[in-house]
Amino acid sequence: MADEVFKAQQATPSDDTIFSKILRKEIPCKFIYEDEQCVAFHDVNPQAPIHFLVIPRKPIRMLSEVDETDKLIKNWCNLVLNCKLPSFQLLGHLMLVANIVAKDLRLEKGYRLVVNNGVHGAQSVYHLHIHILGGRQMNWPPG
Ligand code: ADP
Repeated sequence: MADEVFKAQQATPSDDTIFSKILRKEIPCKFIYEDEQCVAFHDVNPQAPIHFLVIPRKPIRMLSEVDETDKLIKNWCNLVLNCKLPSFQLLGHLMLVANIVAKDLRLEKGYRLVVNNGVHGAQSVYHLHIHILGGRQMNWPPG
């Protein structure tokens, strides 16, 4: 079993993740892009020559919880984090930012977006994130 899968099977969804700590600047991390809604940074364990993550500032645990998360934290988030986009717009924004950063990193030959959701998706960090992988030929199907 791959390390990532083992890690994902052990992971317990929590509200305070390593990405929340990065956003609060408790863990050092160099952002390669940031705006009011999201940040992007290189993955610490790259699976391709270029591998970065785009994460929302809003602490959404996983894609399949987007609607519930929206209802639960909307007011708090609007006040404290100034995250004013509803989730459906935020998800679109994350993809557009992935493309902006991919262009900055000269991935003109193409790249892959991945969102791991839950145990079967091999998600290990329960703060929604898009993986962007590039700089080599990708294969299909993924493992
Ligand atoms: P997996 O760990 O199986 O890839 P996820 O989709 O939840 O599952 O991905 C979390 C990603 O976060 C991993 O690719 C991991 O390398 C990355 N990561 C964890 N901690 C950091 C960190 N401090 N800085 C950058 N990337 C990190």
